[in-house]
Amino acid sequence: QLKEQAYRSWVEVDLDSFTWNWAELRRLVGPAVRVLQVVKADAYGHGAIEISHTALKNGAACLGVANADEGVQLRVSGITAPIIILSPSTGGEIREIIKYGLTPSLSDLLFASEFQRHLARAGVTSPVHIEIDTGMGRGGMLCEEAPAIIRNIFGLPNIAVEGIFTHLASSEVCVDYNEQQWSLFRELTDRLNAMGISIPIKHMANSGAILNYPRFHLDMVRPGLMSYGIHPAPSTEDRADLRPVMSFKTRVVLLKEFPAGASIGYNRTYVTERPSRIATLPVGYGDGYGVILSNQGEVLIRGRRAPVVGRISMDMTTVDVSAIPDCHIGDEVVLMGRQGEEVISANDIAVRVRTISYDILCALGKRAPRIFL
Ligand code: PLP
Repeated sequence: QLKEQAYRSWVEVDLDSFTWNWAELRRLVGPAVRVLQVVKADAYGHGAIEISHTALKNGAACLGVANADEGVQLRVSGITAPIIILSPSTGGEIREIIKYGLTPSLSDLLFASEFQRHLARAGVTSPVHIEIDTGMGRGGMLCEEAPAIIRNIFGLPNIAVEGIFTHLASSEVCVDYNEQQWSLFRELTDRLNAMGISIPIKHMANSGAILNYPRFHLDMVRPGLMSYGIHPAPSTEDRADLRPVMSFKTRVVLLKEFPAGASIGYNRTYVTERPSRIATLPVGYGDGYGVILSNQGEVLIRGRRAPVVGRISMDMTTVDVSAIPDCHIGDEVVLMGRQGEEVISANDIAVRVRTISYDILCALGKRAPRIFL
């Protein structure tokens, strides 16, 4: 008999695990350091609104997004905490930034001046954070140009500089480059002090630096990945006990027995070598379960591993369950997460397809509903 089951495929977001990771984070940074919870890209796919509310309950000082639209979404949900846009903004975002009281980061004088003109017209003052490029080579002003630009920004009315920050290129591993970026940032803030410019909140630490470099914590840290329960590198695993927040699940929707020589999926990339029992799963690359996992991925069914066979389609995936004779239609299937003793982590999937865990998290659950536990 077919059971009535609510979802074809779904993403479980365990907010208790998120809170657990926050306790680990606090243990590492201490009570005095502020925390900016990074929630860009819909909180790395976990659901920005729920994650933001939970982070604020746990003591986050502010939230970090990638653009004005992400900030607006949080404001509309009722969040009044400071929201900092971590990437350079475009001129087209200025109206929303002002209307919704978002905090931009400034990387150059061109945007700063245009922002100031809009602020003056609206008759308001806005906090800003200044980003310094100490070696990441994307957002931020170059160190040698920074003192002059910052002096100019301090001359602009309606702009209140609240923070100054930089971003590390390789914080997940301990390499000299991190020390170089640290020194450049410290030299610059010392130089600003000597010029009589002091900026209250200095920050640079993402997850890798929170775990690897206590002295980089400064006035505020900016965790993303570690708060979602994933280590940025195997080498940080003994620094904190993190619990993955996201699981991705589906159910067996169809089971078929094939003889040897049967072709499975588009372009015949898999042909059975022996009689095989194949389960069809109602999930595919339209849900973020990437084509790259075709003939490479594994799923968990009844606490055992089953290989993905054939090409992953937009809406369906096929797995070989010949070794799981008790597999039934309706069985829960774990694409990422734990089942019994077995675990498939975001890092496991990332290593398999030569990408990074961030990419896996952001991709999953494009269509599948999120269930908050
Ligand atoms: N700070 C900035 C400026 C970022 O762009 C990011 C994410 O890429 C983070 C912090 C969080 O990084 P992580 O997820 O490695 O903690």
